[in-house]
Amino acid sequence: MRAVRDQIIGCEKCPRLRGYCQEIARVKRRAYRDDTYWARPVPGFGDPFARLLILGLAPAAHGANRTGRVFTGDGVGGSGDFLMAALHQVGFATLPTSRDVDDGLELRDAFIAAAVRCAPPGNKPTLDEIVSCLPHLAAELDALPRVRVVVALGKIAFDTFLSLLKSQGLATKPRPRFAHAAVVRLPDGRTLIGAYHPSRQNTNTGKLTPKMLLEVFRAARQRLTEQRGSGGFS
Ligand code: SF4
Repeated sequence: MRAVRDQIIGCEKCPRLRGYCQEIARVKRRAYRDDTYWARPVPGFGDPFARLLILGLAPAAHGANRTGRVFTGDGVGGSGDFLMAALHQVGFATLPTSRDVDDGLELRDAFIAAAVRCAPPGNKPTLDEIVSCLPHLAAELDALPRVRVVVALGKIAFDTFLSLLKSQGLATKPRPRFAHAAVVRLPDGRTLIGAYHPSRQNTNTGKLTPKMLLEVFRAARQRLTEQRGSGGFS
């Protein structure tokens, strides 16, 4: 996992995104003007023995692009806090917030990654950028052999994971459609669950409530418990 992490951090494949991340770090947001921004691709974070993989979209310009940890530092009540509150309630996270890399947060049996590792302008990566970043997800997944359940936050993450499987000869037919709380049994026995992304756009409008996200992670926990009970994995 350390080698995978180094490879991600050193990646320069997408000039548009690399330039954008560095420009954001140069200009900064007023509230963070004393911070040194990470401004490099952001690797995944969590338990290397995780059975749950959570897949987000991409680092936030002043969140993970600033702190260097996924879903971290995008402000009080931001997507990191919203996600961590749900994970904490189900026992996957030791803290209900995610504000700073030195906050002591640990994930238990869970690992968080992103479809794209560099912050994109407007939170919108191009298709080419998503495809370019896919090998990093493949490499991280290879380093996480115990993963049995994947929660994809948003349609792009959901479709990216299906594309990864397809590239590995594990296409799901018919191709599943993204929906919140959609549960897909994958050809290799793993489970993919869709969830709305905890962006402020979704959480401030009530499209995604804390209860809705909590239920998704309860379903993920339930699935892991059932698989253990049936001897589906060790
Ligand atoms: S988005 Fe991914 S592939 Fe593109 S430069 Fe960043 S880490 Fe590399």
